[in-house]
Amino acid sequence: MKIDILTLFPEMFPAVLQAGVIGRAAEKGLLEFRVTDIRDHTEDKHRKADDYPFGGGAGQLMTAQPVFAALRAIGLEAGDAAAGAGAARLLYMSPRGKVLDQALTEELSREARLVLLCGHYEGVDQRVLDAFAFEEVSIGDYILTGGEIPAMALVDAVCRLVPGVLGSEDSHREESIYSGLLEYPQYTRPASFEGLDTPEVLLSGDHKKIELWNFEQALMLTAVRRPEMLDAWVAVHFDGLDKQKKKLAEAVLREL
Ligand code: SAM
Repeated sequence: MKIDILTLFPEMFPAVLQAGVIGRAAEKGLLEFRVTDIRDHTEDKHRKADDYPFGGGAGQLMTAQPVFAALRAIGLEAGDAAAGAGAARLLYMSPRGKVLDQALTEELSREARLVLLCGHYEGVDQRVLDAFAFEEVSIGDYILTGGEIPAMALVDAVCRLVPGVLGSEDSHREESIYSGLLEYPQYTRPASFEGLDTPEVLLSGDHKKIELWNFEQALMLTAVRRPEMLDAWVAVHFDGLDKQKKKLAEAVLREL
């Protein structure tokens, strides 16, 4: 997967794109990142990339010219997406956008190329978004100072789903959200630490018992913290459960 990031703060990205799982996948050639400094494309002699908004309002806006030029420098042209010509998915990080969730990250992980535009100040001139048909994506209902951290969150969540990036294809199957339930609590060695013990069942070696315990814990945690998520999960998965899991699920639901 190729990911272009357009930003006024390119220096924020190397640590995230070069470290850990994502960095290793990039080294292997599974991921390819290119960070473009929008300011390198401004025609203003002071490298200015913002101006006041017409009609008033607080703060500055990123101007259209350097963003258009930066997009052209990475091979995109206004109207490409509308004409169906662009193979890239263009995303503007924005609190006005569709909130990023696991379904959207899975969808994005199947794209060959993403282009992420990071806003700053009060955002970007609307003509950029309209001309290049950007989709707007939010990372949650709160406001950050810039789109860089949202872009990093999106890159991390999407890239770990790209085949080959995580060691095992199964390693995200049981994670919170992915399975539709919050993840059960987990423990590692030592079994007893400062008088705090690991639940006996996890040391029993009985795989069926452990599976049922994990399932029950996931159900209970989801019931307490995200009841709406449990309702959605039950509607889809309850009928397909085996007898033992159905019994556990019924018991948790009775407590609600
Ligand atoms: N005036 C904008 C508004 O009310 O929608 C907020 C601008 S914010 C201070 C600056 C930039 O940060 C935005 O252009 C966007 O790129 C990014 N940003 C802030 N919060 C975000 C969020 N929750 N999700 C994604 N991007 C966000």
